[in-house]
Amino acid sequence: AIDPNFAESRERSSVGDWLDIDADYDVWGTVEPPEKLGIHGTHVAVDFDICDGSGPCLENCPVDVFEWTDTPGHPTSERKAAPVNESQCIDCMLCVDICPVDAIDVDGS
Ligand code: SF4
Repeated sequence: AIDPNFAESRERSSVGDWLDIDADYDVWGTVEPPEKLGIHGTHVAVDFDICDGSGPCLENCPVDVFEWTDTPGHPTSERKAAPVNESQCIDCMLCVDICPVDAIDVDGS
């Protein structure tokens, strides 16, 4: 499962140009593509190293926070749900509840 204390336990960086989408959220932890991709986003945080690319978050988020990004060569899945519109989140917690691999943390408090 994603570490909910990632902001304390990991170093902050930004999205590099290895992503195929236009995103400007922060990334947390070691990023060594293609195997290690870190936690993407802060208010809506997705652990890309856990995300299995199945997409119930992306399909069900009421405000379309997520977009697919291709991650070829990653050992868990070759696409990830990137929280590109995390500022739009309304804290419904649906994505947290339905993620099959517990890869998402939303700081709704
Ligand atoms: Fe979307 Fe709700 Fe998840 Fe926020 S908590 S990203 S609004 S599904």
